Amino acid sequence: MVLEKNAKVISAFLLIYLFTISSCSKSEEDDKNPTPETPDLTHLPFGGNAPTNILIRNQGNPNPDFLSLWLCGLPSNGAGADDADDWTNADGTWDYTRKPQVEGNVTWNHEFEINLDGNGNRIITGNNLPDHPTGIFPIQMGTTAWNYDKNPNIISEQVINLTLPAIPEVAAQPSCVGFGPAGFSVTGAAIYHGASTLGTDAAAHEMLDRFGGHTDGTERYHYHFPAQDLQDHIHPHEHGHSALMGYMIDGFGIYGPYGENGKLLKSADLDECHGHTHPVLWDGQMINLYHYHWTYDFPYNIGCYKGTP
Ligand SMILES: [Zn+2]
Ligand SMILES: [Zn+2]
Repeated sequence: MVLEKNAKVISAFLLIYLFTISSCSKSEEDDKNPTPETPDLTHLPFGGNAPTNILIRNQGNPNPDFLSLWLCGLPSNGAGADDADDWTNADGTWDYTRKPQVEGNVTWNHEFEINLDGNGNRIITGNNLPDHPTGIFPIQMGTTAWNYDKNPNIISEQVINLTLPAIPEVAAQPSCVGFGPAGFSVTGAAIYHGASTLGTDAAAHEMLDRFGGHTDGTERYHYHFPAQDLQDHIHPHEHGHSALMGYMIDGFGIYGPYGENGKLLKSADLDECHGHTHPVLWDGQMINLYHYHWTYDFPYNIGCYKGTP
């Protein structure tokens, strides 16, 4: 009886003690690591409307510009979806949360490797199939997404065999961005710039799956938007600078949307190529290096190549 009572008293004290240390450490943690800012995905600027321009070098735009995507040219056979009315706000912005997605959960036979060769090169090889499930492509007739985008293309294997500088250098002049892969995600699939082949904002117009990706006439799965599921799949963000999400074809890295001290970045915080320079984790070491960021606002990933693609 006495023993049992003591045991109860001891366990009560233990509970209070545990509660006290856990609540102390929690509040200390909160001071150091404030809850990350969450983005407003309901009011995003359309690429192609000033100041978030789509500039085309061979159509009279010889230079990149802040907040803009600088394309080399547009393909003559552009195709895609162009109706965003149902998720456009009265103020001319678009609402990601109202835009339908390509549903489905298709898994793939993913192959992908990133290696340093010890001679200053990073070798990236793979089959472009992602290490996460995708939506069903071609977009299925009768689905909500199909009402807006009749993307008829499948996803197929593609050869990735890329040699990049392990530590890239900023070029004397930036370069324009072409169609096709502008980079590769650490998931094994391509990263495309923010424009469709029609020269419009791809993320705002085309139907993407929950990872922010879809396929095109080359049957290559690729991302246009830093969807939460993509970020969480690569590395859930808790505090501080975002994790590395991929490599652009000039060799520089692209990170998630959080900058130094966990500040949520917008394109206005970055330069004309959509990057900046500060110490960043690179092959396991902190080095002062240029890098790109994904942001939720246009141009989303790259504005121009800062290095040599
Ligand atoms: Zn696309
Ligand atoms: Zn950064």
